[in-house]
Amino acid sequence: MLALAAYPLGLQCEFLDRDAATPGGQVAPILVGELDDAQKLKQLAARVDVLTFDWENISGEALAPLRRLTRIRPSPMALRISQDRLHEKALFTKLSIPVAPHAAVDTQRQLERALSRLGLPGVLKTRRFGYDGKGQALIRSGADAQAAWARLAGEALIYEAFQPFSREVSIIGARSARGEVAYYPLAANTHQDGILRYSVAPYSNRRLEKAAAVYLRRVMRALDYVGVLAVEFFVVGGRLVANEMAPRVHNSGHWTIEGCVTSQFENHLRAICDLPLGSTRTLGAAAMINFLGTMPSRERLLDIEGLSYHDYGKAPRAGRKLGHCTILKSRVADRNRALRQVLSLVEWT
Ligand code: AMP
Repeated sequence: MLALAAYPLGLQCEFLDRDAATPGGQVAPILVGELDDAQKLKQLAARVDVLTFDWENISGEALAPLRRLTRIRPSPMALRISQDRLHEKALFTKLSIPVAPHAAVDTQRQLERALSRLGLPGVLKTRRFGYDGKGQALIRSGADAQAAWARLAGEALIYEAFQPFSREVSIIGARSARGEVAYYPLAANTHQDGILRYSVAPYSNRRLEKAAAVYLRRVMRALDYVGVLAVEFFVVGGRLVANEMAPRVHNSGHWTIEGCVTSQFENHLRAICDLPLGSTRTLGAAAMINFLGTMPSRERLLDIEGLSYHDYGKAPRAGRKLGHCTILKSRVADRNRALRQVLSLVEWT
């Protein structure tokens, strides 16, 4: 999706990925190698004007030496903070952004202490390399705690008090090197088993959007951030509690391809290439639905008016994000009706 946004701007992309048969490889030259392969990274960095990433579980250490060869945007520092839930929460707290009560857990004794201090229910998570609900366990009882410890012990962990949220929302914005910021309206996100199923946008709540934008700007300024950044929140008692951030284009912003004047992908490219940021004005009421594990019937979906279809060309595998579709309507009621129709046709496996 980055490469597709790059072409009309006259920008050329080149990717590094572990497999030539990845979505990027279908639309741009691809260098095949491990994402922390120093030689491959060096080869890529030597050829490009700017290096970026759309997955945060890559090695900040592997990227750091490339700074001598090219610009890396966003910075490896932003990447490193976002890779560790404890560091991320420390940054949010330093910036007066509310987070769930939490404690670092490295031993069973620390888990017991965290449980008695923060109470039940809660979520035990790996601090690093977790995404889409991977490396997490919901703890409601002592027995759950035992099982969670048995499954996750051995890695640096964090225990968080469960947040009784009414909604999950995210804000996405782009910041240029000059400090110019453009942000999109909030998206309301529905997860199941820790994986995003669908997003509805704009989620119209002026007060929450204003608060989210203030928090987003604070994080961006603190990191001297360049590129697109997403911050996910729980809405608890009408207030925002930050869950995590992603230093990249984000799944909950895929709707911006059709739903806004300038997509998150284009704005990421504009930001990292020192081009003026584009308008984030919305073009209607949008919804984005992920295709997970199985592709739905293309014919039946394309029959829905105002629907755009995205097939990433990936091999099907349980829980894998294979594509998505976006609905764009002028009226919220029509969007909601089409969303229900799509949900009845999509099977998540
Ligand atoms: P994460 O990987 O932290 O984004 O977690 C994936 C999903 O699990 C979130 O989007 C929530 O739906 C749920 N979740 C994670 N942490 C908590 C928490 N502390 N309280 C309630 N739900 C949570």
